[in-house]
Amino acid sequence: MAKITRAELARRRRIALYKKVIIYGFLIMTIVPILTSVFLLYRVNQLEKELEYALSEDGGDYLTLQSSREALLSGQDADNGELADSTRTVLSSASVEKSSEEKLTGKDSREETAKDEQSKDEKQAKAVKRVYLTFDDGPSIYTGQILDVLAANDVKATFFVIGRDEKYYDYYRRIVDEGHTIGMHSYSHVYQDFYKSVDSFGDELTKLSDLINEVTGVRPNIFRFPGGSSNNVAPLPIENYIAYLNEHNINYYDWNSLSGDAVTSGLAPEQLVDNIMNDVEKNDDSIVLMHDLQTTHTTVESLQLLIDTLKSEGYEILPIDADTPLIQHVSCNSVEE
Ligand SMILES: [Zn+2]
Repeated sequence: MAKITRAELARRRRIALYKKVIIYGFLIMTIVPILTSVFLLYRVNQLEKELEYALSEDGGDYLTLQSSREALLSGQDADNGELADSTRTVLSSASVEKSSEEKLTGKDSREETAKDEQSKDEKQAKAVKRVYLTFDDGPSIYTGQILDVLAANDVKATFFVIGRDEKYYDYYRRIVDEGHTIGMHSYSHVYQDFYKSVDSFGDELTKLSDLINEVTGVRPNIFRFPGGSSNNVAPLPIENYIAYLNEHNINYYDWNSLSGDAVTSGLAPEQLVDNIMNDVEKNDDSIVLMHDLQTTHTTVESLQLLIDTLKSEGYEILPIDADTPLIQHVSCNSVEE
């Protein structure tokens, strides 16, 4: 009898122990995640408030961050545009940290306030932001439609064209006659041929320049690198080609805003416009990359909506000219004369 009781006792103790393990385990597994969630929600809320503050009142710092973003953007092949979002996130958190630092150091002396007021005024004075719409790879079957939309809205843009046959000559002419800027984008747009050597690069530009001059009477002096100056396809360091452009006084322009029309085919027009608007709101001067290609019909479809949206938000839409800031992924100054 005593033996059974002892065995029974040991069994009960074991059961009691198991129960404890289960109860404590359960508590840990439920309470810890709940507490963590509450804490994280609180942090998110706090950071959101700080971000709002950083973006709304701290214009100066934000602009500084913008230039760092541009610097970061310039180091990447923006053709795929994938890095842009992570860069933006990094900069947003940097901006939050900066603003909380400032809060901690007490930014409330009168002098500081006066300075803030002043910079706010300055900010308002140059509130008009400029957008340069650019179309690469044309002329195409859509050039006429693009030109029609631009004309109907009295908007001037920039076309970085390639070499096409006589069927397209009227489009080169219309681009020039209707007040748009015409720029070069290689004759062949075949990367392996164009970038093969500085000679092939120069030969294609000369051939294209001659063609445009012959057809339109205008000799183009601006250029866009196929794939951007940050492209990974050229076999030689990009500086070799930049040196050629510098020597021939040809300015090249990359972009700091892109619709993504050539990255993902079949994006809805609204999506293309959204992509552009997300980029342009971050810069005083935005060069927008779009394509005048047979495969990018949504660009044509989105153009009216894009112009309406930009105008309604107060942007000035301009063609690239000598006053346009050189937005370049790899700066032309990186190459010594
Ligand atoms: Zn191109």
